[in-house]
Amino acid sequence: MDMEAFLKAIPKVSLHLHLMGSVQARTAVELCQKHGVVLPDFEEPEDLYDYPDIYKFLHMYDNTALGVVDREDFERICYETLSEAADHNVRYREMSFNPTTHMAAGVDYGTCVDGLIDGINAARTDYGIECRLVAAVNRMESPELAVEMVETMLANPRDEVIGIGLDYAEDSGTSPERFWKAYGMARRAGYRLTAHASEAEPPRNIETCLDLLGCERVDHGYHVVESEDVMRRCRDEGVVFTCTPVSTAWVYFDNDFDNHPIERMREFGLKISLDCDDPPMFKTDPTKDLVMAHNHMGFEVEDFRQCMLNGIDGAWIDEPDKRSMRRHWSTEFDDLAANLA
Ligand SMILES: [Zn+2]
Repeated sequence: MDMEAFLKAIPKVSLHLHLMGSVQARTAVELCQKHGVVLPDFEEPEDLYDYPDIYKFLHMYDNTALGVVDREDFERICYETLSEAADHNVRYREMSFNPTTHMAAGVDYGTCVDGLIDGINAARTDYGIECRLVAAVNRMESPELAVEMVETMLANPRDEVIGIGLDYAEDSGTSPERFWKAYGMARRAGYRLTAHASEAEPPRNIETCLDLLGCERVDHGYHVVESEDVMRRCRDEGVVFTCTPVSTAWVYFDNDFDNHPIERMREFGLKISLDCDDPPMFKTDPTKDLVMAHNHMGFEVEDFRQCMLNGIDGAWIDEPDKRSMRRHWSTEFDDLAANLA
């Protein structure tokens, strides 16, 4: 077995994936046509997923969201991304979605989450994959809207929705401080907390997310390497970072995989879990991000073993389940590693 086959076969936890960013181009086109959403001209649907910068990417992301309206549309995109994940041996995923994006388009929160839950249930039946949902605040919208989002979650509780996150462009001039109220409400209601932080901005944002918002893990976090103090603190506290090599090399590091900060984070001993962010939109998948980490960031077999365990540590599941996953997955991992050429 070669390295790529090995990386595809190992069991995986997926903690950093956005629902709308995981919609296949063909599905996006079909759904937009179904609902009369006008798309830019294209020859092949995949041409739509070519953009010069993150803002053009987010524009496409929002445009695609307009085509997801009916409960069955949400079920379809959720099922499709989970079936792809299962093909790469992802066993457990915590998937972000942006309720306010769909609500602004006139979709009822219940329609959105119940469709996603239908997709989760169907994927579990067909592939055995498990998935939970993370409602993400769009940081480019107002803090008041974030509070409304949490109020909506509280009024429409679903067991599958277990946490909140914070996403969209961090370098858009919006600081995480703005969302203290939404995070406080979510925390008091028992939701788990994460946020995209220091993907593009200084490590102060990581400290804000940990100390003011109460986040339990950090999505991206690459600029942590600018502060030895923050790195040491995160290492000592065992903060899990959910890193996505491919999408961020493209967006923030000039496609320079060899100088991506993930390597320094790994060397320093930070707890890294790898994932693929928005797979079709960045032409990646749950295996390719690991392959790039191996080819360019010094990740070897033992590092991938650690990443797998870090993903289990960072997952919002009960400790007995985590113990069982650590034990069984480690055995599986070792059996696969023994077959590695
Ligand atoms: Zn992300």
